[in-house]
Amino acid sequence: MGNGKANGGDGKHVVQNDGFCACCRSNTVFRSPEQWLRDFYVCTKCGSVPRQRHIQTVLDSRFPGWEQLVIHESSPSNDFISRYASQYSASQYFPDVPRGETAANGVRSEDVENLTFGDESIDIFVTQDVLEHVFRPERAIAEIHRVLKPGGAHVFTAPKHKGLLETVQRAALNSDGTIEYLLPEEYHGNPIGDNKALVTYDYGYDFEQLMSTWAGTSVEVFHTLDRSRGLDAEFNEVYVIVKPGGAPVPPRVSPHSLYWSARDFARRAERKARRVVGERIRARRS
Ligand SMILES: [Zn+2]
Repeated sequence: MGNGKANGGDGKHVVQNDGFCACCRSNTVFRSPEQWLRDFYVCTKCGSVPRQRHIQTVLDSRFPGWEQLVIHESSPSNDFISRYASQYSASQYFPDVPRGETAANGVRSEDVENLTFGDESIDIFVTQDVLEHVFRPERAIAEIHRVLKPGGAHVFTAPKHKGLLETVQRAALNSDGTIEYLLPEEYHGNPIGDNKALVTYDYGYDFEQLMSTWAGTSVEVFHTLDRSRGLDAEFNEVYVIVKPGGAPVPPRVSPHSLYWSARDFARRAERKARRVVGERIRARRS
Protein backbone atom coordinates (compact mmCIF):
# COMPACT_ATOMS: atom_id res chain seq x y z
CA MET A 1 0.00 0.00 0.00
CA GLY A 2 1.00 3.60 -0.45
CA ASN A 3 3.66 5.30 1.53
CA GLY A 4 2.27 8.76 2.25
CA LYS A 5 5.55 10.57 1.73
CA ALA A 6 6.27 8.75 -1.53
CA ASN A 7 2.91 10.02 -2.82
CA GLY A 8 3.71 13.59 -1.87
CA GLY A 9 1.89 13.32 1.45
CA ASP A 10 2.86 15.09 4.65
CA GLY A 11 2.32 12.13 6.97
CA LYS A 12 -1.22 13.17 7.87
CA HIS A 13 -2.26 13.03 4.23
CA VAL A 14 -1.75 10.10 1.89
CA VAL A 15 -1.66 12.45 -1.06
CA GLN A 16 -0.94 16.18 -1.16
CA ASN A 17 -0.02 18.28 -4.15
CA ASP A 18 -0.41 21.71 -5.74
CA GLY A 19 -2.49 22.08 -8.86
CA PHE A 20 -5.30 23.79 -10.70
CA CYS A 21 -8.92 23.05 -9.76
CA ALA A 22 -11.52 23.10 -12.55
CA CYS A 23 -14.36 23.52 -10.04
CA CYS A 24 -13.19 26.76 -8.39
CA ARG A 25 -10.97 27.65 -11.36
CA SER A 26 -8.01 28.54 -9.22
CA ASN A 27 -4.62 27.32 -8.13
CA THR A 28 -4.97 25.22 -5.03
CA VAL A 29 -3.68 22.35 -2.91
CA PHE A 30 -5.29 18.93 -3.33
CA ARG A 31 -5.03 16.46 -0.50
CA SER A 32 -6.48 13.25 0.85
CA PRO A 33 -6.18 11.71 4.32
CA GLU A 34 -7.35 8.35 2.89
CA GLN A 35 -6.32 5.92 0.16
CA TRP A 36 -9.90 6.05 -1.17
CA LEU A 37 -9.40 9.15 -3.32
CA ARG A 38 -12.88 9.09 -4.88
CA ASP A 39 -14.41 10.60 -1.72
CA PHE A 40 -11.44 12.13 0.10
CA TYR A 41 -9.04 13.73 -2.44
CA VAL A 42 -10.43 17.26 -2.01
CA CYS A 43 -9.54 20.73 -3.25
CA THR A 44 -8.67 22.67 -0.10
CA LYS A 45 -10.24 25.81 -1.59
CA CYS A 46 -13.67 24.55 -2.70
CA GLY A 47 -13.97 21.05 -1.25
CA SER A 48 -14.55 19.42 -4.65
CA VAL A 49 -13.82 15.72 -5.12
CA PRO A 50 -12.21 14.09 -8.22
CA ARG A 51 -15.52 13.17 -9.89
CA GLN A 52 -16.72 16.79 -9.77
CA ARG A 53 -13.42 18.11 -11.11
CA HIS A 54 -13.39 15.53 -13.89
CA ILE A 55 -16.89 16.36 -15.14
CA GLN A 56 -15.93 20.06 -15.14
CA THR A 57 -12.70 19.24 -16.99
CA VAL A 58 -14.59 17.22 -19.62
CA LEU A 59 -17.08 20.07 -20.10
CA ASP A 60 -14.18 22.50 -20.55
CA SER A 61 -12.24 20.32 -23.01
CA ARG A 62 -15.03 18.55 -24.93
CA PHE A 63 -17.54 21.44 -25.01
CA PRO A 64 -15.57 24.72 -24.92
CA GLY A 65 -18.03 27.58 -24.39
CA TRP A 66 -20.49 25.25 -22.59
CA GLU A 67 -21.19 28.07 -20.13
CA GLN A 68 -23.40 29.73 -22.77
CA LEU A 69 -25.46 26.59 -23.57
CA VAL A 70 -28.82 25.48 -22.17
CA ILE A 71 -27.86 23.15 -19.33
CA HIS A 72 -30.02 21.01 -17.10
CA GLU A 73 -28.70 19.05 -14.15
CA SER A 74 -30.69 16.29 -12.52
CA SER A 75 -30.23 15.97 -8.74
CA PRO A 76 -27.12 18.14 -8.34
CA SER A 77 -25.28 17.78 -5.05
CA ASN A 78 -23.06 20.83 -5.62
CA ASP A 79 -23.13 24.17 -7.47
CA PHE A 80 -19.91 23.87 -9.47
CA ILE A 81 -21.62 23.76 -12.89
CA SER A 82 -24.34 26.28 -12.03
CA ARG A 83 -21.88 28.96 -10.90
CA TYR A 84 -20.48 29.29 -14.45
CA ALA A 85 -23.52 28.46 -16.63
CA SER A 86 -25.69 31.35 -17.86
CA GLN A 87 -28.71 29.17 -18.86
CA TYR A 88 -28.77 26.60 -16.08
CA SER A 89 -31.64 24.78 -14.42
CA ALA A 90 -31.74 21.94 -11.92
CA SER A 91 -34.32 19.49 -10.68
CA GLN A 92 -34.74 16.88 -7.98
CA TYR A 93 -37.11 13.96 -7.70
CA PHE A 94 -39.85 14.85 -5.19
CA PRO A 95 -42.42 12.02 -5.09
CA ASP A 96 -45.02 14.34 -3.49
CA VAL A 97 -44.61 17.38 -5.81
CA PRO A 98 -46.24 17.20 -9.29
CA ARG A 99 -43.68 16.90 -12.07
CA GLY A 100 -42.70 20.26 -13.58
CA GLU A 101 -43.76 22.22 -10.49
CA THR A 102 -41.51 23.92 -7.99
CA ALA A 103 -41.03 22.39 -4.55
CA ALA A 104 -41.03 24.35 -1.29
CA ASN A 105 -37.23 24.69 -1.41
CA GLY A 106 -37.48 26.40 -4.84
CA VAL A 107 -36.21 23.42 -6.83
CA ARG A 108 -38.14 22.05 -9.81
CA SER A 109 -39.65 18.58 -9.43
CA GLU A 110 -38.73 16.16 -12.21
CA ASP A 111 -38.73 12.41 -12.65
CA VAL A 112 -35.78 11.62 -14.91
CA GLU A 113 -37.75 8.62 -16.25
CA ASN A 114 -40.62 10.91 -17.28
CA LEU A 115 -39.43 14.49 -17.88
CA THR A 116 -41.76 17.45 -18.49
CA PHE A 117 -39.30 19.34 -20.75
CA GLY A 118 -40.18 19.77 -24.41
CA ASP A 119 -38.49 17.72 -27.12
CA GLU A 120 -35.07 19.00 -28.22
CA SER A 121 -34.94 21.82 -25.67
CA ILE A 122 -31.63 21.22 -23.86
CA ASP A 123 -28.00 21.37 -25.04
CA ILE A 124 -26.31 19.53 -22.17
CA PHE A 125 -28.05 17.27 -19.65
CA VAL A 126 -25.88 16.41 -16.63
CA THR A 127 -26.39 13.51 -14.22
CA GLN A 128 -23.77 12.94 -11.54
CA ASP A 129 -24.16 9.56 -9.83
CA VAL A 130 -27.90 9.42 -10.57
CA LEU A 131 -28.30 6.42 -12.87
CA GLU A 132 -27.54 3.90 -10.13
CA HIS A 133 -30.62 5.20 -8.24
CA VAL A 134 -33.33 4.99 -10.92
CA PHE A 135 -35.59 1.97 -11.35
CA ARG A 136 -35.66 2.09 -15.17
CA PRO A 137 -32.35 3.56 -16.39
CA GLU A 138 -33.26 2.64 -19.97
CA ARG A 139 -36.27 4.97 -19.68
CA ALA A 140 -34.14 7.70 -18.12
CA ILE A 141 -31.69 7.48 -21.03
CA ALA A 142 -34.56 7.56 -23.56
CA GLU A 143 -36.11 10.59 -21.84
CA ILE A 144 -32.82 12.48 -21.65
CA HIS A 145 -32.28 11.88 -25.36
CA ARG A 146 -35.81 13.02 -26.17
CA VAL A 147 -35.22 16.43 -24.52
CA LEU A 148 -31.70 16.91 -25.93
CA LYS A 149 -31.29 19.03 -29.04
CA PRO A 150 -29.70 17.22 -31.99
CA GLY A 151 -25.97 17.46 -31.35
CA GLY A 152 -26.64 18.03 -27.65
CA ALA A 153 -25.06 15.75 -25.08
CA HIS A 154 -25.73 13.76 -21.94
CA VAL A 155 -22.67 14.16 -19.69
CA PHE A 156 -22.69 11.82 -16.71
CA THR A 157 -20.98 9.79 -14.03
CA ALA A 158 -22.03 6.57 -12.33
CA PRO A 159 -19.95 4.20 -10.23
CA LYS A 160 -18.86 0.93 -11.82
CA HIS A 161 -18.08 -1.96 -9.51
CA LYS A 162 -14.69 -3.53 -9.30
CA GLY A 163 -14.59 -7.06 -10.67
CA LEU A 164 -18.27 -7.07 -11.60
CA LEU A 165 -18.54 -8.27 -15.19
CA GLU A 166 -22.27 -7.92 -15.57
CA THR A 167 -24.61 -5.27 -14.19
CA VAL A 168 -26.85 -6.42 -11.33
CA GLN A 169 -30.26 -4.97 -10.52
CA ARG A 170 -30.67 -4.50 -6.75
CA ALA A 171 -34.26 -3.23 -6.57
CA ALA A 172 -37.29 -3.07 -8.87
CA LEU A 173 -40.50 -1.04 -8.81
CA ASN A 174 -43.70 -3.09 -8.81
CA SER A 175 -46.75 -1.93 -10.77
CA ASP A 176 -48.48 -1.02 -7.48
CA GLY A 177 -45.62 1.36 -6.59
CA THR A 178 -44.04 -0.88 -3.97
CA ILE A 179 -40.35 -1.70 -4.11
CA GLU A 180 -39.10 -5.22 -4.59
CA TYR A 181 -35.65 -5.75 -3.09
CA LEU A 182 -33.73 -8.22 -5.21
CA LEU A 183 -30.63 -7.76 -3.04
CA PRO A 184 -30.19 -6.33 0.48
CA GLU A 185 -31.07 -2.63 0.61
CA GLU A 186 -28.17 -0.26 0.04
CA TYR A 187 -28.24 3.52 0.21
CA HIS A 188 -26.04 6.43 -0.82
CA GLY A 189 -26.28 9.98 0.50
CA ASN A 190 -29.03 12.10 -1.03
CA PRO A 191 -29.03 15.94 -1.08
CA ILE A 192 -32.79 15.98 -0.31
CA GLY A 193 -35.32 14.14 1.84
CA ASP A 194 -34.05 11.74 4.47
CA ASN A 195 -30.53 11.85 2.93
CA LYS A 196 -30.94 8.26 1.70
CA ALA A 197 -30.98 7.28 -1.96
CA LEU A 198 -31.71 3.62 -2.67
CA VAL A 199 -29.21 1.93 -4.97
CA THR A 200 -31.19 0.19 -7.74
CA TYR A 201 -28.32 -1.00 -9.94
CA ASP A 202 -24.74 -2.13 -9.41
CA TYR A 203 -23.14 -1.37 -12.76
CA GLY A 204 -20.44 -3.69 -14.06
CA TYR A 205 -17.98 -3.67 -16.92
CA ASP A 206 -20.92 -3.82 -19.35
CA PHE A 207 -22.02 -0.31 -18.29
CA GLU A 208 -20.93 1.49 -21.49
CA GLN A 209 -22.47 -1.29 -23.60
CA LEU A 210 -25.79 -0.93 -21.76
CA MET A 211 -25.77 2.85 -22.11
CA SER A 212 -24.91 2.64 -25.80
CA THR A 213 -27.68 0.12 -26.42
CA TRP A 214 -30.25 2.19 -24.53
CA ALA A 215 -29.22 5.45 -26.20
CA GLY A 216 -28.98 3.83 -29.63
CA THR A 217 -25.66 5.55 -30.32
CA SER A 218 -22.03 5.56 -29.24
CA VAL A 219 -20.64 6.44 -25.80
CA GLU A 220 -17.43 8.37 -25.21
CA VAL A 221 -15.57 7.48 -22.01
CA PHE A 222 -13.11 9.94 -20.44
CA HIS A 223 -10.53 8.57 -18.06
CA THR A 224 -7.91 11.01 -16.83
CA LEU A 225 -5.07 10.61 -14.36
CA ASP A 226 -3.59 14.03 -13.72
CA ARG A 227 -2.86 15.05 -10.14
CA SER A 228 -1.94 18.57 -11.29
CA ARG A 229 -5.69 18.94 -11.85
CA GLY A 230 -6.68 16.78 -8.89
CA LEU A 231 -7.79 13.97 -11.18
CA ASP A 232 -6.99 10.61 -9.64
CA ALA A 233 -9.50 8.14 -8.24
CA GLU A 234 -11.14 4.83 -8.92
CA PHE A 235 -14.41 4.87 -10.89
CA ASN A 236 -13.73 8.45 -11.96
CA GLU A 237 -14.85 8.03 -15.57
CA VAL A 238 -17.00 10.67 -17.22
CA TYR A 239 -19.31 9.46 -19.98
CA VAL A 240 -20.60 11.51 -22.90
CA ILE A 241 -23.36 10.51 -25.29
CA VAL A 242 -23.97 12.99 -28.10
CA LYS A 243 -27.42 12.94 -29.69
CA PRO A 244 -26.91 12.45 -33.42
CA GLY A 245 -28.31 14.76 -36.05
CA GLY A 246 -26.95 18.25 -35.51
CA ALA A 247 -24.13 20.35 -34.21
CA PRO A 248 -25.31 23.11 -31.85
CA VAL A 249 -22.29 22.15 -29.75
CA PRO A 250 -19.44 23.04 -32.07
CA PRO A 251 -16.69 20.41 -32.25
CA ARG A 252 -13.18 21.56 -31.58
CA VAL A 253 -11.38 22.52 -34.77
CA SER A 254 -8.01 20.85 -35.13
CA PRO A 255 -5.18 22.45 -37.12
CA HIS A 256 -5.53 19.49 -39.49
CA SER A 257 -9.18 20.21 -40.27
CA LEU A 258 -8.35 23.92 -40.53
CA TYR A 259 -5.85 23.00 -43.27
CA TRP A 260 -8.46 20.99 -45.14
CA SER A 261 -11.14 23.66 -44.91
CA ALA A 262 -8.61 26.29 -46.08
CA ARG A 263 -7.73 24.07 -49.04
CA ASP A 264 -11.44 23.55 -49.87
CA PHE A 265 -12.01 27.29 -49.66
CA ALA A 266 -9.12 27.94 -52.06
CA ARG A 267 -10.45 25.37 -54.54
CA ARG A 268 -13.97 26.76 -54.39
CA ALA A 269 -12.62 30.28 -54.95
CA GLU A 270 -10.60 29.06 -57.93
CA ARG A 271 -13.64 27.32 -59.48
CA LYS A 272 -15.73 30.45 -59.00
CA ALA A 273 -13.03 32.63 -60.61
CA ARG A 274 -12.90 30.30 -63.62
CA ARG A 275 -16.68 30.38 -63.96
CA VAL A 276 -16.74 34.18 -63.85
CA VAL A 277 -13.97 34.46 -66.42
CA GLY A 278 -15.76 31.89 -68.64
CA GLU A 279 -18.96 33.89 -68.46
CA ARG A 280 -17.15 37.08 -69.44
CA ILE A 281 -15.52 35.39 -72.42
CA ARG A 282 -18.84 33.93 -73.53
CA ALA A 283 -20.51 37.35 -73.10
CA ARG A 284 -17.83 38.99 -75.27
CA ARG A 285 -18.28 36.39 -78.03
CA SER A 286 -22.03 36.70 -78.19
ZN1 LIG B 1 -11.39 23.91 -6.05
